[in-house]
Amino acid sequence: MTIYGGDELEGLRRIGRLIGESFDVLSAEVRPGISTGELDRVAAEFFTSRGAQSGPILTYDYPGFICISVGDQVVHGIPGSRVLAEGDLVTLDVAAELDGFHADAATTVPVGSVSPQASRIQAGTRAALGAGLRAAQPGARLGDIGIAVERVANTRGFSVFKELVGHGIGRSMHEEPTVFNFDSEDPQADQRLEPGMVFTIEPMLGAGSDQLRMGADGWTLSTADGKLSAHEEHTIVVCEGGPEILTARPS
Ligand code: MG
Repeated sequence: MTIYGGDELEGLRRIGRLIGESFDVLSAEVRPGISTGELDRVAAEFFTSRGAQSGPILTYDYPGFICISVGDQVVHGIPGSRVLAEGDLVTLDVAAELDGFHADAATTVPVGSVSPQASRIQAGTRAALGAGLRAAQPGARLGDIGIAVERVANTRGFSVFKELVGHGIGRSMHEEPTVFNFDSEDPQADQRLEPGMVFTIEPMLGAGSDQLRMGADGWTLSTADGKLSAHEEHTIVVCEGGPEILTARPS
């Protein structure tokens, strides 16, 4: 896998910062009554005014600037006419490109006041990301990240979807390696982390089973049992002293 440094790392920091900033802008717009299509337009305006492009459009010809998944939708929800309601959990998954560099991050946001179960899965997913970040130390096994994520998920009574993983990122949106959210037997999990590796850590947790269902639109993956899910993601670079979060929010 690619080791990033110097000017390339500076390029990654620039797009990472922009994505971090976008979450402050987008979260402020999340409220009952706004449609996911309107949120997507806010994202498109934010990034295009700064010379950045949508990663999913650029890479996959995806039908939206960002992915917005609501309730039991886990990933790749297409922005559109769906109106957010009090009590929803909405995931904003933002991947973007600037000057040839990509970064990717996601967060799950409550719409108004949400159920205790919704708060628990939101907090649990954040804690799982925190544990994954702490495991991303130089010299550690890549697989240690998945072990840490899965432990937090299971301790709190949530499942992880084995098909959904983090990924290397940099000059393209998806690069090697695969960053598992569980204790994987895959040989990739045995590689040692070294400074300059850039990848996402992105736990996606479900409140029920670990099975997914593909939507009729061919993009949206939802929980098979219709239960809630949440997703937290950062792009990081491994450094001598530990991970540097490239997509950190300014707030
Ligand atoms: Mg990702």
